[in-house]
Amino acid sequence: MRPATLDPLFASVTSLPGVGPRVAESLARLLGRDSPEDVRVKDLIFHVPTGLVDRGFMPRIAELPPEGVVTVKARILRHLPPAPGSRSPWRVEVTDGTGILTLVYFHPRPDWIRQILPEGEERYMSGRIEWFRNQPQMPHPDHVVPPEEFAGLPRLEPTYPLTAGLSQKVLARIIGQALTSLPSLPEWQDPAMVKTRGWPAFHEALIRLHRPQQAEDLAPDSPLRMRLAYDELLASQLALALVRHHMRKGRGRSLAGDGRHRTAIEAALPFSLTQAQRKALDEILADMAAPQRMLRLLQGDVGSGKTVVALLAMAAAAEAGAQSALMAPSDILARQHHATIAPLAARAGLKAVLLTGRDTGRQRQEKLRALASGMAHIAIGTHALFQEDVTFRDLGLVVVDEQHRFGVRQRLALQAKGHGTDLLVMTATPIPRTLALTAYGDLDVSRITARPAGRKPVKTSVIPLTRLSEVVDRLKTAVDQGARVYWVCPLVEDSGALPHTAAEERFAMLDEHLPGRVGLVHGRMKGEARDAVMADFRAGRIAVLVATTVIEVGVDVPEATIMIIENAERFGLAQLHQLRGRVGRGNRESYCLLLYRESLSATARERLRIMRETDDGFAIAEADLRLRGAGDLLGEKQAGLPRFTFADLALHEELLLAARDDARLVVARDPDLATPRGEALRHLLYLFGRDEAIRLLLAG
Ligand code: ADP
Ligand code: MG
Repeated sequence: MRPATLDPLFASVTSLPGVGPRVAESLARLLGRDSPEDVRVKDLIFHVPTGLVDRGFMPRIAELPPEGVVTVKARILRHLPPAPGSRSPWRVEVTDGTGILTLVYFHPRPDWIRQILPEGEERYMSGRIEWFRNQPQMPHPDHVVPPEEFAGLPRLEPTYPLTAGLSQKVLARIIGQALTSLPSLPEWQDPAMVKTRGWPAFHEALIRLHRPQQAEDLAPDSPLRMRLAYDELLASQLALALVRHHMRKGRGRSLAGDGRHRTAIEAALPFSLTQAQRKALDEILADMAAPQRMLRLLQGDVGSGKTVVALLAMAAAAEAGAQSALMAPSDILARQHHATIAPLAARAGLKAVLLTGRDTGRQRQEKLRALASGMAHIAIGTHALFQEDVTFRDLGLVVVDEQHRFGVRQRLALQAKGHGTDLLVMTATPIPRTLALTAYGDLDVSRITARPAGRKPVKTSVIPLTRLSEVVDRLKTAVDQGARVYWVCPLVEDSGALPHTAAEERFAMLDEHLPGRVGLVHGRMKGEARDAVMADFRAGRIAVLVATTVIEVGVDVPEATIMIIENAERFGLAQLHQLRGRVGRGNRESYCLLLYRESLSATARERLRIMRETDDGFAIAEADLRLRGAGDLLGEKQAGLPRFTFADLALHEELLLAARDDARLVVARDPDLATPRGEALRHLLYLFGRDEAIRLLLAG
C-alpha cells in the first residue's frame, strides 16, 4: 500500500485552490495526461522550470537598458486613459526623478488599474523594457508592489514550459500552492552519500528547484539537480533490479548439452567462429547450464555475427531436450533468420519452423502441432509467437532479436510459455551503455566486439543529389561488373505523399537505365510479392534493390557491396549505421553513398561527417546521443525506453552507474525493502511511478 504521507502528492490538482476545470484542462494538456483527473499535485511539483528571470537588476530610469527585465522604484505621475472607443492602450507615467517610464496596459479595468497604481504614490514595478520613439516603456509589468511588500518579491523567478490557456503567472502560482502540500519524507538515499555530495533533502531540492536562490541552482550539475536526477535514476534502477531479482528467484533450469548438435552445425558452417563470438557463446552456454534463469543481453554491431551465436545456443538447448524460440521484429527478418537457420539446424537433425502473421489455416495448425508435440525444436517468428494458441512441449530458451522494438510485456508473455525459461536478448543497435542500462537494467551483457576477419571498412562518401546522373552512370558500370546494390529511399513525410512513392519513382527511373535488373520492395507490398523480390536479389537475378527502410534491420545478402541512401540527411545516425551495415559483409570492397539535398542543417552536416569518419557503432551511438538527446535516439515509436524528468543521460552517466551499483546493493541486502531504508525507498518508487516493482514484492 502507498504510504499515507504521499497522499497529498497524489491528490488531483483540482483539489488545489484556484484550479478550476478550465485550468485543470490546460494542465492536462501541458503534462500530456488524458484527462484533468489524471493530473496529480506531484506532477506539478515535478514540472521542471526551463528558464530564470532575474529581477535583481534595478537601474534608474535614466539608465534603463535597451531591453531585458528590470525592476524599477518610481512614483506614479499620471494615468492617461485611452479616448472612449479608441483602441489605444491605457498608459501610466511614472518617474524616479531621473526620467519618465510609461507603463502600458491594453484594456485594463479602470478601477483596478487606478487602485494598483495610485497617483502620487511609490511602487516597485518589474517587467520587460521596450523603447517606443526613444521613450522607455514597460508593457504589462509582471509585478507591481508597494514598498512594504518589496521584500516578498522573488529576485529570481523560474519560467516554465507553457501551453495555451496558461500563463507563467498562473502556473507559478499553482506550483507554489502545490509545494505547500509537499511533506518532508524519510531519507531514502545513503546518508553518507548525501553528506559527501552536499545534497539537500528531497523536499528541499524540489522547493529550491521552484524557488532558486541563485542562477546556478538550475544548472544540471547543481547539488539539487544532481539529487533529483539521482533519485529518479535510482528509482528506475531499483525497479529493474527488483524485477530481475524476482525473475531469478523463480525456479530456473539447467540446460547443459553434450555438444553433439553444436558440433554438427559448426562443421556445416563455411567459416569458423571469431574469438569474440566464441567468448560470447561460452558466456551464454555457462548461463544456460547454471540452475538460475539466464537474463543476458548480446550486443554486437551490425554484421558482427550474432545469428550464428544464437543458433548454437538454441542447438545446446535442443541437446538438453528443450525447445527454443527466436523472435524477430519484422516478417522479412523472421523469414531471413529461418532461411539461414533451418538448413544449418537440419544438419544436426533439428527442425525449425517459421511462424508469422501470414500463416493461416491448415498450414498454421500443422506448425502449432509440431511445436506442441516437440517435433519442431526451434520456432522462428514475429509477434505471432505470442498468440495464445501457440504452445510448446517444453520451451527452454527464448531469443529476442532487436529487442528494443518489443515491449517488456511481450517479452514476458513469450517467456511465460515455458518454465524457468532462459532469455537472451540480441541487439544490433549499438545502444550506448547508459541507454542499455536504463532499458534493460542490470542484465548480464555479452558483447561481440570484433567483426569477422577479412572484413574491410565500408568506403563512405557524401554526395549532393545534384550529381545524381553521375551516380547513376557509376552504378551502371558497377552493375555491369556484377555488383549487387541497395538503393534506399526515405519516407516523404512533408510532401503528403504516400511513403512508397519516392521509392516507386526512383525504381521507374533506374529501371529505364537498367531494364530488368532493378527490383522494388516497400512496406505496403504484399508479403509474397516482397519475398519474391528479396529472393531475386539474394540469388542475383536482379542487381539493384530499391527499398524503403524495410531493409533496415538485419537483412543479410553477403554479395551486396554498394549501399546508396537517398536524402541521407533525413535519417538518424543509428539508422544510417544500420543501413550501411547491410554491405561490407563479404570480403569484397564495399561502398556507401550518402546522397543529400542542398542546404543541410548543422546537425545533418555533422551526422554525415560522422558517418564518413567512423564505422564504429558504439562511437556512432554516443555521437547520436549527443546530437539528439536520449529521448529520440531510437525514434519515438520504440517501446521500453524510459523518459526522464530530472535526469539527462547525456550529462548524468556517472549518476546512472552509481544508481545501478546502489540498486544492486539494496536488492542483495534487502530484497523485500523491509529495513528502514527499504521502507523509505518504497516512497521513492511510488513517487517515480515504479510501483509495479512493489506489487511484485507483494506477489512474493
Ligand atoms: P548480425 O550480428 O548483424 O546479426 P549476422 O549474424 O547477420 O550479423 O552475420 C553477418 C554475416 O556474417 C552473415 O553473412 C554471417 O554468415 C557472417 N558471419 C558470421 N560469423 C562469421 C564468421 N565467424 N566468419 C565469417 N563470416 C561470418
Ligand atoms: Mg542480425
